[in-house]
Parts: sequence; C-alpha cells; structure tokens
Amino acid sequence: MTTTTTDIAVERGTDDARQRRLARAISNVRTRTKATDAARVLFFIGSVAVPLGLVLILLGWWGASHTPNLYEQIPYSISGGMLGLGLVFAGGFAYFAYWMTQLVHATRRDTAETRAVLERIEYLLSGGHTAALSPASELVPAQTYVATAKGTLYHRTDCASVVGRKGLKEINAAATTLKPCRICNP
Ligand SMILES: [Zn+2]
Repeated sequence: MTTTTTDIAVERGTDDARQRRLARAISNVRTRTKATDAARVLFFIGSVAVPLGLVLILLGWWGASHTPNLYEQIPYSISGGMLGLGLVFAGGFAYFAYWMTQLVHATRRDTAETRAVLERIEYLLSGGHTAALSPASELVPAQTYVATAKGTLYHRTDCASVVGRKGLKEINAAATTLKPCRICNP
C-alpha cells in the first residue's frame, strides 16, 4: 500500500517533469529560431554595409583626388565619404548588435545547462524526491493534525473521518500518545 502510492506519486512526478521539460524545450526552439533569424539579418547587414561603406569612401577619395575642380570634389566627398562613413558606422553597429545577441544566447544556454545540472544534483541528493517533482506533498510546511475529543487516532485536517466534525483538538504529532490514522497517514 505504502510503496504503491509512493511509486505512483513518483511516476506521476517524473511524468510531469518530463512534460515540463518537453514544453520548455519546444518554447526554446521556437524563440531560438526567431532570434537566430534576427541575428542573421544583423550579421548580413553588418557584413554588407561595412565593406560597401569602405568601397564608397575609397571611390569618393579616388574621385576627389583625381579632379582638380572643387565643384567636383565636393559631391565626391559627400556621396563617397559621408555615405561610406555612415554605412561603415551602421554596419559596424549591426555587427556589434549581432555579437551581443550571440553573447546573450551563450549566456542563456550556459545558465540553462547549469540549472539542469543543479536540478539533477538536487534530485539525487534528496534521494529521488524533490520539491519540484512533488510540490503538493513536500511544500506543505508543517502538517497540522487533529483528533476527536475521545478518539485514539490523530488525523490530517483533510481526512475524510474528521472533515466537518466538531470538537476537534489540535495534536502535536511528535509528542502525542495517539496513533496516526491509517487512512490519512499511510
Ligand atoms: Zn484520518
């Protein structure tokens, strides 16, 4: 009786944990694809804009230095120099943003792995019973026990044999001479 209930609880717990892990993995995959798409766009912008800007600067310089006329040098330096400089800046920033997203992803991945390891350690240390796996039974702080006025057994407050009964007294399970009820304290 005792072992079967525990086994069922543990089994249900691992099932829950497995499903939660699956859901988390799926949501991870979903956000990761979206994020990598954005990162790829940033990388693309960076890798196109920077060389293009440099080429424009060189062309502007080349054009300006190969004409003696000031009225030709000004448009060359504006279209080549300024636009090229702008592109280099924008591309550099995009590449920096891409680098930042990679950094964030690496950190997030490390954190997830660390958390998984810690959860596994916690699970092993507690001998297979963790708060995460069976929250209902293990997160209840101190169980309150009650007994009827003349009863020889003490019960949990939610036990079917005491629910709705009047004249219950609170019992300190550690100190009482009463025996635990076999229905609610298996
Ligand atoms: Zn009981």
